[in-house]
Amino acid sequence: MLRASVRRFTGIRGSGLRSASTLAFVETSKGAIAPASLNTLYAATKLGNPIDAVIVGSNASEAVSELQKLDVASLNKIIVVAEERLNDLLPEKLTPVFYELLGKSESDYSHLVVPASSAGKGFLPRVGALLDLQPICEVTQILSPTTFVRPMYAGNILATVESQQSKKLISVRSSAFPAVGSGSNNATVETISSGSATSVNGQESPEVRVEASNLVTSERPELGSASKIVSGGRGLKNKETFESLVTPLADTLGAAIGATRAAVDAGFCDNSLQIGQTGKIVAPDLYIALGVSGAIQHLAGIKDAKTVVAINKDPEAPIFQVADYGLVGDLNEIVPELTEKLKQ
Ligand SMILES: Cc1cc2nc3c(=O)[nH]c(=O)nc-3n(C[C@H](O)[C@H](O)[C@H](O)COP(=O)(O)OP(=O)(O)OC[C@H]3O[C@@H](n4cnc5c(N)ncnc54)[C@H](O)[C@@H]3O)c2cc1C
Repeated sequence: MLRASVRRFTGIRGSGLRSASTLAFVETSKGAIAPASLNTLYAATKLGNPIDAVIVGSNASEAVSELQKLDVASLNKIIVVAEERLNDLLPEKLTPVFYELLGKSESDYSHLVVPASSAGKGFLPRVGALLDLQPICEVTQILSPTTFVRPMYAGNILATVESQQSKKLISVRSSAFPAVGSGSNNATVETISSGSATSVNGQESPEVRVEASNLVTSERPELGSASKIVSGGRGLKNKETFESLVTPLADTLGAAIGATRAAVDAGFCDNSLQIGQTGKIVAPDLYIALGVSGAIQHLAGIKDAKTVVAINKDPEAPIFQVADYGLVGDLNEIVPELTEKLKQ
């Protein structure tokens, strides 16, 4: 149970009027706001409500000053749950916190907005199930406080969804919204404690803990927010060619590296690089696809790429249907030459 009162609302709520307001989950890592949360906050501003942002974890307080320097005039309050047990963002531990914040009868939050990240996607449906509300997932446009656009069938259909539910639970696709910039706001800060927060309606949550995490660290731009991506497919044949052709081209351009599922499954690179329906969704200015056929599941991840360049030896490869520039030929010859010319 949350110990600190979430009833002492300021501003509009403090006036006793019941009016719409938005609760936004801002993900942080080691005290810094995760890039996708800046896009989430931008999406939250589109609802036109005052926003309360929630940050969690033992280093959460470090992100407060960063939040207060964001150009989000409607940011009303920053709710800090500075607890180590929430560091891993496990859905079993986040769910009671958000259930508590939203589920109180006096809560006037009309919207919960979270990034469509692993953490957001993990706890949003659980909160929905507890409150008997249908989440609206991977939103790419906010047309009004009740009307949203979201992709369906691997992005082949864009559905316009209208919700008359009392609270709208929304996850947003960060690549579809710009990030909020720096500036200032007048957000107040409230620190609350989740107490044990292991039970919901008297039912104990299963005890879950992270035993180990092996994170792939990279100096490269993060795929989800990279402006340039060089991506490799099965046409690269093996790990050695992937590394000797994709990496130098990406280094020359200062680009992030991506891959198809076929390349990941064949062990050419780590699975954190997979782009597509079951991988990352990207929206770079420049996407260079090397030896990628252009399967529908891969294209689902690059729909928002602005300029697509494809190098493939098969002129009939579907990737050429979406490419702005296509080079038909052997990537083993073209890519080293292209990298050399770009260096010059
Ligand atoms: C439920 C489901 C989810 C999936 N999710 C994803 C996903 O998230 N992401 C994803 O990528 N895939 C996904 N897939 C797999 C997808 O269907 C394709 O199998 C995969 O994208 C193919 O990867 P590829 O283009 O690297 O390989 P291929 O389709 O084998 O294409 C290789 C290409 O390389 C070209 N080539 C070969 N040699 C050369 C050369 N020397 N020079 C130039 N070109 C060359 C070939 O002409 C060919 O076009 C999913 C599939 C399913 C069923």
